[in-house]
Amino acid sequence: MNIHEYQAKAIFSRFGVPVPDSHLIRTGDDVEPFCETLEPHAWVAKAQVHAGGRGKAGGVVRADDKQDLVAAVSGMLGTRLVTPQTGEDGLPVQAVLLEKTVEIHRELYLALLVDRESGRVAIIASTEGGMDIEQVAQQAPDRILTQLVHPAAGLQPGQARTLAYALGLPKDQVRQLQAILFALFELFASSDCSLVEINPLILDGEGRLVALDAKINIDDNALYRQVEIAKLRDPAQGNRDEEQACTLGLNYIRLGGSIGCIVNGAGLAMATMDLIKHHGGEPANFLDVGGAITQEKVAEAFKLVVRDAGVKAVLVNIFGGIVRCDLLASGILDALQSVSLQVPVVVLLQGTRANEGRQLLENRHTLLHQADTLTEAAQRAIRLARA
Ligand code: GDP
Ligand code: MN
Repeated sequence: MNIHEYQAKAIFSRFGVPVPDSHLIRTGDDVEPFCETLEPHAWVAKAQVHAGGRGKAGGVVRADDKQDLVAAVSGMLGTRLVTPQTGEDGLPVQAVLLEKTVEIHRELYLALLVDRESGRVAIIASTEGGMDIEQVAQQAPDRILTQLVHPAAGLQPGQARTLAYALGLPKDQVRQLQAILFALFELFASSDCSLVEINPLILDGEGRLVALDAKINIDDNALYRQVEIAKLRDPAQGNRDEEQACTLGLNYIRLGGSIGCIVNGAGLAMATMDLIKHHGGEPANFLDVGGAITQEKVAEAFKLVVRDAGVKAVLVNIFGGIVRCDLLASGILDALQSVSLQVPVVVLLQGTRANEGRQLLENRHTLLHQADTLTEAAQRAIRLARA
């Protein structure tokens, strides 16, 4: 799960990572009176969306006086911001972070993430802050420094010092960076993060290291025990269908193809997608209805998939172990009562109460087809999607 910059910075503050002074203004607040209350200073208005690349897209605007600030904030609130990371529809700006400008002497890059190869938390640092880090990794890989943290030993002071020296920091800032790294590691581990990124971490006019930007990703599988962080979810920033699926407890990821898939179990879903691809089709989504499925959830899952305009045929592949195939069939019939089906659906039911399920679906709709094997089901769905 992603959170906003202002939320990430509040967490940074709690852990002792320095951030600029700031205020948050939201849609519905009166912009002018709000800006009047601010102390006279140059401010930066930052659109709060779940995407980076705002700087180059007009989502980070410096204002030297109140008038400019009012204009900048009014120009952002209630609009949609398009950045290279958002897709062409952009994301809604419902809050703007106002930050006191700081003098920037150096821009550094700092991130903590889970390195799957070593199975450890990796600390990544670079002298090339403020830039797209993927670009730095490609063009100047030697400018990217990495330290892997041993899971039992934890972050060692020597590792922090090594990074600080490699970044060319003088003595006083070495100590500051060390403190920041320990705070970030503590935050990362205790909040079940998958990514913490500061781009840029700056050196200001008074020789202080300050996090000018903040990005935190939390491992979705840990949200059950990160109750406070889970409350920070902003559904407006996500794909509407994916958000709805999440609330229903379904694993739904939209892909670009034409064959909608409804499958139980992630492994079976992947096998189904492989087979669709093998026979020349393209899956439109990954939808795992899981094991503890109810009739209502099946109906919702079905509606979700057929709502995707790119879907030209649906493949339902259920292997009934814990799931009962008749319950699944009833869920499909429920969905057919409230949606008028426009695309063909191929259903393959195997396992627990498969025969009962098949009988329920027999001759219920002209667009409803049943198959006996997965290969047959995949080939039929691909053929129908092209018709
Ligand atoms: P992003 O483009 O979405 O990653 O947004 P950032 O928060 O990283 O802001 C983009 C850029 O705006 C930063 O790299 C800085 O160069 C600049 N910026 C942001 N805040 C300030 C500030 O307070 N003072 C100055 N001078 N520049 C700032
Ligand atoms: Mn940034």
